[in-house]
This record gives sequence, structure tokens and C-alpha cells, in this order.
Amino acid sequence: MRTETPQPIRLSDYRPFPFEIETTHLAFQLEPSATRVTATLKVRRTGAAGEALALNGERLALKSIAIDGQALGANQYVLDEERLVIAEVPDAFELTTQVEIDPSANKALMGLYMSGGRFCTQCEAEGFRTITFFPDRPDVLSRYTVRIEADQAFEHLLSNGNLMEAGQLPDGRHYAVWNDPFPKPAYLFALVAGRLDVLEDDFVTMSGRTVALKVFVDPGQASRAAYALDALKRSMKWDEEAFGREYDLDLFMIVAVRDFNFGAMENKGLNIFNSSLLLAEPETATDFDYERIESVVAHEYFHNWTGNRITCRDWFQLCLKEGLTVFRDQSFSADMRGAAVQRIKDVKALRARQFAEDAGPLAHAVRPSSYLKIDNFYTATIYEKGAEIIRMLKTILGADAFRAGLDLYFERHDGEATTVEAFIACFAEASGRDLNSFFSWYEQAGTPSVSLTHAYDAAAKALSITLTQKTAPTSGQPVKKALPIPVTIGLLAQDGSPLRDSEVVLLEGESLTVRWEGVTETPVISALRGFSAPVTLTTDARPADAYVLFAADPDLFNRWEAGQGLARGLILARAAGTPDEVGEERYAQALGQALDDAAADPAFKALLLALPSEGDLALAVDPVDPAAIHEARDALRARIAVHLGEQLARIHGAMQGDGEFSPDAASAGRRALRNACVDLLSADPHADNVQRIVGHFEAAAALTDAMGGLSALLAVGGESCETALAAFHAKWRHEPLVLDKWFSVQARDPSPDALQRVLALTAHADFDAGNPNRFRALVQGFASANPARFHDPSGAGYRFLADQILAVDDFNPMTAARLVEPLGGWRRYVPALGDLMRRELERVKAAPGLSKNVLELAGRALE
Ligand code: ZN
Repeated sequence: MRTETPQPIRLSDYRPFPFEIETTHLAFQLEPSATRVTATLKVRRTGAAGEALALNGERLALKSIAIDGQALGANQYVLDEERLVIAEVPDAFELTTQVEIDPSANKALMGLYMSGGRFCTQCEAEGFRTITFFPDRPDVLSRYTVRIEADQAFEHLLSNGNLMEAGQLPDGRHYAVWNDPFPKPAYLFALVAGRLDVLEDDFVTMSGRTVALKVFVDPGQASRAAYALDALKRSMKWDEEAFGREYDLDLFMIVAVRDFNFGAMENKGLNIFNSSLLLAEPETATDFDYERIESVVAHEYFHNWTGNRITCRDWFQLCLKEGLTVFRDQSFSADMRGAAVQRIKDVKALRARQFAEDAGPLAHAVRPSSYLKIDNFYTATIYEKGAEIIRMLKTILGADAFRAGLDLYFERHDGEATTVEAFIACFAEASGRDLNSFFSWYEQAGTPSVSLTHAYDAAAKALSITLTQKTAPTSGQPVKKALPIPVTIGLLAQDGSPLRDSEVVLLEGESLTVRWEGVTETPVISALRGFSAPVTLTTDARPADAYVLFAADPDLFNRWEAGQGLARGLILARAAGTPDEVGEERYAQALGQALDDAAADPAFKALLLALPSEGDLALAVDPVDPAAIHEARDALRARIAVHLGEQLARIHGAMQGDGEFSPDAASAGRRALRNACVDLLSADPHADNVQRIVGHFEAAAALTDAMGGLSALLAVGGESCETALAAFHAKWRHEPLVLDKWFSVQARDPSPDALQRVLALTAHADFDAGNPNRFRALVQGFASANPARFHDPSGAGYRFLADQILAVDDFNPMTAARLVEPLGGWRRYVPALGDLMRRELERVKAAPGLSKNVLELAGRALE
């Protein structure tokens, strides 16, 4: 149990480690409940003489310790729950420790643990210290050799780098020795041992080297890894072409595991993936899964340069690798799947997760300056806002200077653990620009608001545009600076024809006015094209302008954005008790016209059909009344469904029949559109529509359609819904990844009895809180994706979440902590709800034996 208040770690306290670990030799004797780890470290002093050697180590049973072969006496070192300290050490020596650990008891899924009868590891951020005594910090780079010994039942013995040696041993055991020639921090160490099937291929790099590619999966599932393998090859090629980055080892391996706290991990040469982000076949994965697999495979692969070859000096620099790597994977996906559609999806995700985070008490800078548990900073802010910052840098500098800066970064810092300052310095140097004020994007939390006003002088044919920025205070940052904000602006004529091409206006101070001459008629302003900065924009445009943009903006992002803005206004007016029925009809009609645009891509039309989410709408009001938002949004959905009913049914029909399944973007776009139609039709559930939805579900060959049908049936409710749920369960009960979706679609069910359903599902035989995928499918699905039911006026939804946080915190703090966020925004809700939320947070925070992870977030949420 916790006794003292944990102390925060601060960026300003950074000190280099006073020793260097030239080589690290690890020997594993694997046994599920008693694994022996012998570590031999070649240590050399780099700091001041006389400094003690302090190593991290937690939950390790120390069996022996020696320096240069001489066993240490108990008075020569100090061991506590977190550290091993040897006060007096020579300037250069070899340290050997042997510890025993129990992987089978490790339910936190950090360090060495068992999943599906196999050994696997997760070391980022601080899991390595539960495997052996080591300076577990990213700025200590070492060359690793790893010897793994295990019973032959653990068929494959894998670690980072190249396989040096393998063979049989007496007593049915065997071994393998791996060497990784690239110095790496401990968080990139990985080990896997067990029975696996492997799918193999190879890739010839731009300099002509052949790299063996191996994807390891559960026995019998190799065919499901084909898409991931294909995505890997495309990623390798793309990184060569787009960034000049070549892979550096002769072997690249990926292993899929079922029990994993996050999505995937970029361990050097041996990526480990949550199986949900690796395995895909048409019947068992949705198009969204295919998209995610492609982008996560790319993301982890891209880390080889942005993260592994160049790593972080300390965990405050986490965005250095994550923001940059997300930027890289988003650019890859844009090239694979179409830039506009990809951008819209990325911005939707940014608003849903990052804007919400930035608007609440858990708001933090992209480079924070203190933390209790770094695990809590694997957030949308570090990842997604981190990527937006890189994107702005590219917009401000231009593609060529941006590439030159990145090339300089790779050249200058290869093999180092570095900082965001050093990264930005490369761009300043390569472009010759002063980027000091740009750096504030890393240090300042909160989403800036930008307002745009304009004046058109018809006689002078001159347009002046004034941009003003403001960022509201966030906790610990009462005063905000002005940030450099690139605002891409173009002009349209009233008839929708282009009047002036896009231009990047850089708003640097609090406010800026630009004057454009030669504007021949009253323009329609298309601002923040492509979402050129992560801000909220308000303008003085008339609603009629939004219709022009919605119909004709050549910037497809802004075309979509105009529709979202119109819908948002209509829903919020309804939620406030002042519905604009004429406006709603006009919107439905404009949507109908957009759907008839033969030139537009089905994937884009599917995005047009989706109204802003309830979470997105909640960001635009204060205080938030989730029930009012839900009802108003439903009402607009119903109106559209009635107004466009025949057209939606017609499009649904026309989008059928894709022949043999293909996961490519065009095919996925057709499926997205037909499912968007089904989704809207469920808002007007007359007999014909219900029949169409049931038919859609029953005829579904691909999981995308089955899930689209099931979700629509849940909205409709009744007999056909229960029948479909039962049939789906019976069909997929033995497929964990598909069964996860059966749980999550019910968690997201908007009908009034959803909470009852969710509570009942926690007692279902297939529910398993120990498996993060299953747990998140139900609990996270409900708390983050079902606002109307989560915010039940009784507070029962909040109580349910708090109970789940506490139950899981007992054994898996990382997963528990990530569920605090839905309660975190309590101040923004109507007081009756906010009070109930706060009380649940207080109950969580006061619970005995709480982890540091949950304590930190619950504490910050209540501050
Ligand atoms: Zn990453």
C-alpha cells in the first residue's frame, strides 16, 4: 500500500547518467513462474569520480551480484523496492546480476509476461526494470546480446537484431543467441518465446540489400497476416522514397499477441503488435481495421528511424518520436488512401480525443514539464497534436526546407538520444529562419481560438482579412502567449468558382490584418484549408457562404468542414430549444445535392453523411447537457433520413456488389457509403427501412457490413436486433477479435436501456477484464463513445466506470488510468451531472492501494 505522496519527476531535474553501459549481455532461463535473468553489463564511468552506481529494478528477487567476478557482500550495496545502489565502484568494470521473476503472475502486461501460453515483453516506458537491474532511461544506449533458453515447447525464441546461434540442449530444452549491432535504450528491448506460425517474405532495399521479413502469429492464423505483411513492404518502400530512410538490419520481425496494453511497439527489429492491429481477413476485420493495420504497421516501422536510430533523451521528449512518427504515418496513409479523406479522418480523431483533452483538467503541453507516471502521457496531445505541430512546420517552411531540416536531423543526431530543441534547431538552420516562437507550440497547452473578420471594398476591389488569436488558460498555465499559426486561405466567387488560390497567412502576434487587391467580386472566404493548424476557427461569414463552400470548395477538407459547421449550428440551435426547421430542410437538400455529385468519391460522401459526433458538439457548448445534444442530433438525423430516404435507399442499392473482397481504398469507400446510408436510415425506422437494414446485415459477407448492420439494428431495437445479436454471437464466439466488436457495438448502443445491457455484459461468460481488448471494447466503448447513456442522470454510468477503474487498477494500472479521462471533463457539464462525476472521481482517488497512474490522473482531474 502507498504510504507517502509520490514525488513528480521534472524536466528541469534532468542529469546525464554518470556511467556508460558499453555492452549488455542477458541470459534468460525461461520458466513461466520462475524465470532466471542473468545480466552482464560492461560499465564505464563518464561522470564525476566517486559517484555511486544506481540501477532501477522493481519486483526482482536478487539471487547474486558480482563486480568483475567478485561476489558483493550485503554491506556493499543497498536494495529497496525501486533501486539497487552500489556506492563504490571502479571506473571500468563488469557487473553481473542474477534475478528471478514470475512472468505468469504479471497481469500488468509490462515487462516479461505470458500471453496465450507464450512469453512476451513490453518495456516502454519503464518495464525493463522489472526484468533486470539496469539504468532504465532512454539516454543510456547499449549493445545487446541475448541468450534465451527454454523448453522446446516454446518453439520460437526471438529477440532483437540478428540470430547468431541456436541449438538443442539436454532435457528437452533449446536455446538461441541474438545480437543487436545498434546501441539502443532498454525500452526497445524485446523477447518472445512460444509456438507461433510465421508468414515470410523479403524486401530489397534501395541500396540492394535483402531483408528477411517475418510475421509471427497464433498457430493457424498465418493467412490473416498477409495484409500486414503487404503494408510493411509498402511502408519500407515509401520511407525510402518519401524520406530517404532505408532499413538497417537483415531481418525485420513482427509478432502478434492477444494481451497488450496499447496498439503496438517498435522494439528494434522485433515489433510486437496487439493482435487486433495485425490480423485481418474480410470476414473478421472491418475496413477501419484494415486502415488501422496499415497505418500502425507503418508507424512502428517508421519508428526505426524516428525513435530507434534517434531516440529521446528523457521521457519529456516523448513527442520527439511520437509526434514525428504519427506525422509520418499520416503522410503515408494520405499517399495510400487519398489525402482529403485521410485528412478529414485525422482531424475528426484529433477533435474527438485531443481537443477534448485540451479542454479539460488533463490538458498538458506536447512537451510536459513534470509527471508522476510517464505511462499517463501516451496521450492524444503527445501523439496527435505532436503530429499537427510537425505538419505546421512543414506548412510554414515549405516542403523543401522541411525535408532539408529533417535530413539534417537524421545526419546530425543518428545514434543519439536527443531533445525537441535539437530537432527544431535543425529546421531553423536548414531554413535560415528563427523558430523560437514556434517552440511555444510544444510548451503551451490548450487549443487556440482564431477568429476571422473581413471587409470587402467593392470600389477598390480590395479585401482585408483580420485574424485574431486567443488561448484560454489551462491548469498551471494562466497566461498564454500568441503562437505562430499558419492559416491557409483561398477565395471563391458567389457562384462557387475559384477566385483566388490558397495562400498561407502566418498569424504571429495576437492579431494580423492582410489586404488583398484585385478581388473582383464579393468573395466567399475559405479559411484554414486542409485544417492548416490545430485551432478552433470562428468567422464572420454568413450561413449562405457556408452553402457555397459546402457545394463547391475545391479544398475538400473545407467542403466537408462547411457541412459539419452547418450541421453543428442546426443541432446546437435545437439543443438550445430554438430549432431552425427551414435551415434543417435546406441542409438536408444541400446534402442530397452533394450525394448526387458524380465526381465525388464515395468515401468522401460517406464522411459528408456523418453528422458531427456528440463529443464534437459538446466541445462547442458550455455547460454541456449530453441528453439535449443527443436528442437534437437524433432529430436532425431523422429529418435527413426522411428528407433523403429514397435517395439513401437508392445509393445503398447502387453501392452493392463489389465482387471479390478487396481492402483497397476505393472498395472500402463504397462500403463506407452504403453503411453510412444504413446508419441514417435507422433514424427513420419504418418497415421498409428496417427490412433493408435486416437484409444488409444478413447478406453481409464482409465484417464492415455486418457491423454496420448490427449497429443500425441496435439503434432500431426490438426483435430483429436481439435476433441479430444472438446470431452474431453464435457465429463468432470463438473469434476473440470479432467478439470484441460484439461487445463494443452494444456498449455504443444509443437506446435507453444500454446501461442495463452493459452492466449485464460485465457478467457475460465471454467478458474478461484481464484482456485489455475485451475490457476496452465494453468499458471504454461505453464511457467514451456513448455519451447519452454514460451521462445517465442517475449517475449509474459514472459509478459503473469508477467501479471498473478500481477493479482493473488492482492488476493493470496502465489500462485503468486511461479510463479516468471520461470523468475528467466534469467541470464542463451541467452541475447536476458534473457533481456526480466529481464524486466518483473523489471515490476513486480515495481508494486504498491505488496505483500512481490512476492517482495522478484522478488528482489532476480534481485540481
Ligand atoms: Zn509510436
